[in-house]
Amino acid sequence: MTAQPGTPPALPPLAGGPGGPTALRPLLDTVLDALTTGAHDRHGPLPAGGPDAVTARVHAVLGDAGVLPAHGTGAHEALRTLVHTLAAGAADPADPLCAAHLHCPPLAVATAADLAAAALNPSLDSWDQAPAASTLEALLTRTLAAEFYLTPHADALVTTGGTEANQLAVLLARERHGPALTVLHGANAHHSLPRAAWLLGLPPATELPTPAGTLDPARLADALATTPGPTLVTATAGTTDAGLIDPIHRIADLCDRYGADLHIDAAYGGLLALSPRHRDKLAGLDRAHSITVDLHKLGWQPVAAGLLAVPDTTLLTPLAHQADYLNATDDTEAGLPDLLGRSLRTTRRPDAFKIATTLRALGRDGIAALIDRTIDTARHLARLLDAHPRFELHAPPTLTTVLFRPTHADDDHLATLRRTLLHQGRAVLGRTHADGRLWLKATLLNPHTTAGDLDQLISLLEGSTHR
Ligand SMILES: *Cc1c(COP(=O)(O)O)cnc(C)c1O
Repeated sequence: MTAQPGTPPALPPLAGGPGGPTALRPLLDTVLDALTTGAHDRHGPLPAGGPDAVTARVHAVLGDAGVLPAHGTGAHEALRTLVHTLAAGAADPADPLCAAHLHCPPLAVATAADLAAAALNPSLDSWDQAPAASTLEALLTRTLAAEFYLTPHADALVTTGGTEANQLAVLLARERHGPALTVLHGANAHHSLPRAAWLLGLPPATELPTPAGTLDPARLADALATTPGPTLVTATAGTTDAGLIDPIHRIADLCDRYGADLHIDAAYGGLLALSPRHRDKLAGLDRAHSITVDLHKLGWQPVAAGLLAVPDTTLLTPLAHQADYLNATDDTEAGLPDLLGRSLRTTRRPDAFKIATTLRALGRDGIAALIDRTIDTARHLARLLDAHPRFELHAPPTLTTVLFRPTHADDDHLATLRRTLLHQGRAVLGRTHADGRLWLKATLLNPHTTAGDLDQLISLLEGSTHR
């Protein structure tokens, strides 16, 4: 049927409301089909040909219409074309050979939960935009905070990731101690920590060398003895580059002795707290004034899923803030929960929802099994490389990062090898410097990776290094 002249075009359907699921279902069929064909057409961990080829393919598929045609192409065409393009051109962390970064393959249950969140679109800046979502968030944050702190009123904020959590940690320390606060961190710390000091107008952060990969208590003691004024020490539980854990108890002892605050960036390693086999690696974590944890790393959530945990909810009061249109005083007095102090953001996605759904679906033992299995996979890869005459292993892995290099390759050769594999679309590996040399880095976050996948990675590398 064609529209009568003068008849307004049908309005695009909404995702929510009682009719939302009916409108979504056929669109989701199109999305799921395009995800399937896109992954098939990519056939590998990332698209072949490098950036120019990928850009050319995207432009060719979109054609002259681009992303803002004068007249729309319709929901099915747009979804088919763009989802296929996205998938065919993805670096897909669900592929076992996509292992460069702390870029995890999200669990299907988490992604499905996130779809519900997107359909209903609760916004966590006021109760009247997120009634049940805000209750679930409060439950989730208290539940997870209690995994890190045994104190009665432990709490956590949901963040967009480790970067935002680290910024909030430095901000809260500045509110406790004033603008002369010095941030002390190891060279192994995440870049977002010194950047937070810069962002907040603090004195430049002091970086301590970490030649062994972790913060050295002797160096830290010297720095604390010579740093005037209030100090925030930041330690790392799971370094981004090597997955190493700083000596937490010894660092906390020094902080006690010198009256410094301690923040622990456990973006990578924090969820080990849920694994009975591995949680002792985090011993002393609860001595920190704040802890950063990411669930879009070892937590298998779609981005974004970060947390900042604190031992007592009163530590968060500096973030309290009032805006009449969101938390009018009389509304708060009448019992409407005040959510504005739970973030520096205003409009805010219910990222807690997919996390809560995942934790309920898997349970404590299910999450622990994923963590244990992924660490076992990293250990297995390390053993294979160590036993192999053509590869050198940097060290047995603490978490799930394995640094290694071909025995007879110099740094340039190694860097070229990594780019060649990227360009061919055959493997995504990272790189990092350690001991003055360049190493290849496999960051294993895929619990489905098998021994056979690791054998395949090694033969691929063997084939590429042997010339
Ligand atoms: C990944 C990471 C961060 C940053 O987290 P985002 O979620 O990327 O913002 C911070 N610290 C460490 C140790 C990390 O590994």
